[in-house]
Amino acid sequence: MTRYKIQISGIVQGVGFRPFVKNLSLKYQINGFVKNDSSGVEIEAQGVDSDLAEFVSQIRQNPPPLAKIVDFRITQIALQNDEDFKIILSDGTKTKTTFVSPDMKICKDCISDITNPKSRFYGYFATNCTNCGPRYSIIKTIPYDRKNTSMREFEMCDECKKEYNDSSNRRFHAQPIACAKCGPKLYLYDQNRALIDGDALMQTERLIKEGKIVAIKGLGGFHIVCDATNCKSIEKLRNAKNRPFKPFALMCRDMEQVQKFAFLNEREKEVLLSKESPIVILDIKDDFSLSPLIAPHIKKIGCMLPYTPLQVLLFESLDYPIIATSANLGDEPIIINIDGIYEKLPFVEFVLDFDREIVNGVDDSLVQVVDDKVQILRCARGYAPLSMKLQQTLAQNTLCVGANQKNTIAFGYGDNLVLSPHIGDLDSLANITFFKNTLDTFKSFYDFEPEIIVCDKHPNYETTKWAKEQGIKLKEVQHHKAHLGSVRLEHGLSGDFVGFIFDGTGYGDDGALWGGEVFVGESRKYHFKPIKLLGGEKAIKEPRRVALSILFERFTFDEVREMDLECVKSFDKDELRLLYTAYTKNINAPLSSSVGRIFDALASFAGVLQVQSYEGESGLRCEALCLEEFEERFDYVLGGDEIDIDILSVVLNKTDSKRELCTKLLNTLSDIIIQIATNEKLDIILGGGVFQNKTLLQKVLKKAKPLDINVYFGCEIPVNDGGISVGQLWDVALDL
Ligand SMILES: [Zn+2]
Ligand SMILES: [Zn+2]
Repeated sequence: MTRYKIQISGIVQGVGFRPFVKNLSLKYQINGFVKNDSSGVEIEAQGVDSDLAEFVSQIRQNPPPLAKIVDFRITQIALQNDEDFKIILSDGTKTKTTFVSPDMKICKDCISDITNPKSRFYGYFATNCTNCGPRYSIIKTIPYDRKNTSMREFEMCDECKKEYNDSSNRRFHAQPIACAKCGPKLYLYDQNRALIDGDALMQTERLIKEGKIVAIKGLGGFHIVCDATNCKSIEKLRNAKNRPFKPFALMCRDMEQVQKFAFLNEREKEVLLSKESPIVILDIKDDFSLSPLIAPHIKKIGCMLPYTPLQVLLFESLDYPIIATSANLGDEPIIINIDGIYEKLPFVEFVLDFDREIVNGVDDSLVQVVDDKVQILRCARGYAPLSMKLQQTLAQNTLCVGANQKNTIAFGYGDNLVLSPHIGDLDSLANITFFKNTLDTFKSFYDFEPEIIVCDKHPNYETTKWAKEQGIKLKEVQHHKAHLGSVRLEHGLSGDFVGFIFDGTGYGDDGALWGGEVFVGESRKYHFKPIKLLGGEKAIKEPRRVALSILFERFTFDEVREMDLECVKSFDKDELRLLYTAYTKNINAPLSSSVGRIFDALASFAGVLQVQSYEGESGLRCEALCLEEFEERFDYVLGGDEIDIDILSVVLNKTDSKRELCTKLLNTLSDIIIQIATNEKLDIILGGGVFQNKTLLQKVLKKAKPLDINVYFGCEIPVNDGGISVGQLWDVALDL
């Protein structure tokens, strides 16, 4: 006989951990107790050695679905005489150090309940249990009790109360437990906010079939929904949102439906079906039969499966996919209440609402599978708040406020790291408010008061401006070093690596715009040859300006004017003259070494596009044109500390097709990476938004493998600017 004290921290409260442990104790004849304590769950377990070992291993290996163990401590203590194994209820020491669980997809058991006519949950849209349902999105404060969530408005009926209090029930202490009798109700409204009679769900299904645009409340916000096979509806939506090309996400009934139009490998199936239930970016089949307006000009599509009971019920009578795009206005956060829909999206024809308040807005997550790894591109519903253990203990509470685009916030305290859900681009007042609200939410969740704030070096980032106003110790971390740091933190990498940070534009140590940097160890050893961005910010939206700048570097104004190139012809003579003056006199023409801009220039030269309608469009469209069996590349020079790719000679020769040009760029970039890594004899770190390009990543991985070079890139922490806050934390951790 042995007795252990086991202390577990992580997401272990409110996820059915204690009943799970109790059941295991019965299976292995263990005596003792389990209780929640201030840092998680504490167990004392006594039994025969072999049984005890099994008991411990089961807890570690197969915890309840929503649990996430981040720390597991076990010590042997003196034997005692317990009669059985007890769940010790509330001990009054709940403090704010346990992690908040992300919202999770409806579980299999709850799906059985809502589809079983004999169940009391049959057809009920807000069914949930300890293993599934809303969490972060409904929590006002910690501890996670019903009274601290938006479910406090709903008094449990006797049957719900009974299940809630029964430790053998799947809904034991399921805080959002509700049924049709006592829980939230559905309401369907028309454009004038008049209530529509009849079964709200059935009416909604009918309206979608009729081609209407409907806003439907989800877990962390509303979706704008319409029939994905109806071009007219999608066109109506695109026009109303002034969003001509940016891809829309799809929601499909099941895997079978997805497989009709997209390729799926085993890993992709797994993540599509996972409890996190993100949008998964998939390659579409050649005979794609849905509307071409869903994702124009690209060969990928973002798909998710129903993850709330409401969505599951909706698909009972819909046999085709629907568009399910986040309800928001431009750069603003996801809309979380019906007033917001009427105020900001007047084109919405119907609204399916319910009366459980969304406290914390949270978007759908976005992932892709690369080399059998799940790469999270937008860390939100299902994954966030993301909690991790650090390898070292921080000396001070550290708040990292991230970048300006794809903003996230990282909180470091003790040896804990918590990453907020995706907040978005801080280009609108509404999103800046969302940033501040998210900050307050997390400060209150964890009783967190920062002792040091870490921000980007860019003086005009909203986050930097905010950080400087706080009057707290401040540290600035260079943008691309933060990208490097986030990959190192995620993979626990120490020692020297060669880090390739290919990004949009970020503020460099020298005040120039970086974005194509190669770090060896901690120092920047190479960078791409800077290009003048004609018109500054405007050049980021208009690839043709970057292409023109490259032409002005080698040719006179008159020579350029005569060129038979789309990027030249898309400007009139006066505009060309003005831009030439800007180029020669350096008026609003900052230099940038960004690889993102090289993609822009190539897209313009190749005639792929001249003006972007959304961020990253040129990269996505170049990737879509990439040829599979084509190994040629552009010439490049690696001289001194500068990398110079000669795109122009090939473009002017006019011998290459659009597709060959696009492929050559990806081949060239991957060759450069491999050559430098080989020269430096170091493993590779890849960071920055350019490495969302799956084709580029795969090329690097394929070339590195036979050379025995390891390649690390952001997977759990977004490789794009969503990971900057985590990288900032890495920098502080290094200072210890
Ligand atoms: Zn469930
Ligand atoms: Zn009830």
